[in-house]
Amino acid sequence: MYREELGMIVKEMEKNFYRFIFGPRKKTKFGYNFYVLVDGNQALMIDTGFREHASEVKEYLAHKGITITKVIFTHFHLDHINGLNALDKVDIIGSDFYQEALDIYVDKEKQSFYQPTISIHDDYEFEFGGFRIKLMKSPGHAQCSMLTFINDKYLHVGDELMFSNEGLSVIPLVGKTKIKRQLNSLENLKNYAQYIILTSHGETNQDSNELLKQIDHRIKYLRAIDESQEKISFEQAIEGTGIDFLHPEWHETIYEL
Ligand SMILES: [Zn+2]
Repeated sequence: MYREELGMIVKEMEKNFYRFIFGPRKKTKFGYNFYVLVDGNQALMIDTGFREHASEVKEYLAHKGITITKVIFTHFHLDHINGLNALDKVDIIGSDFYQEALDIYVDKEKQSFYQPTISIHDDYEFEFGGFRIKLMKSPGHAQCSMLTFINDKYLHVGDELMFSNEGLSVIPLVGKTKIKRQLNSLENLKNYAQYIILTSHGETNQDSNELLKQIDHRIKYLRAIDESQEKISFEQAIEGTGIDFLHPEWHETIYEL
């Protein structure tokens, strides 16, 4: 394990497979994970975070003579794509449903910078070094959300599930009108509970029963909102469920998005 002043932790998942962990930014309770696969002197990074994240990961790899040449965007929200500004020219692999997210976060004239150079429409498989990577569209948290399978062993779920670095659940954030999309994506995730789950934010309990429970909590909460004609409070949505989430204040945002 490697720890440096700014708080980045590097874990070697297995040979040529790294996890970079950062703490929360101001006013938030969840940290950031960046997974990097290495093939010789080239690397593929999953999500780029904000500029400061990508720049630290880039520097760490540069010390080993490794250059980031490919990125996968699990989705095109700003905290996943902004780090592109710190990288040299890379291939961008992402869902062809990127427009909705870019319209929220990026001015029209700057959007082309973030657009995928390898745009995913159907399931897409490729090899990188010793890794077999399969991408699957999974509209949920964002319309452009994708699942990333690595060697049929790991599954990166992006923000379909979010946690703090201490493993506490973060409230699922999606607009009220898009809740059905997120519910479908969560139902679909239940099929993959036996995989080692990787997330963009926080620490995940890898016990598959615990994971299924976490998925169900989010489904229950979102269903309560979806099934009520009127606006309900956070307390009403979780009433009698024993569920709790970090960032309950985002409950209001669900009705605004
Ligand atoms: Zn995120």
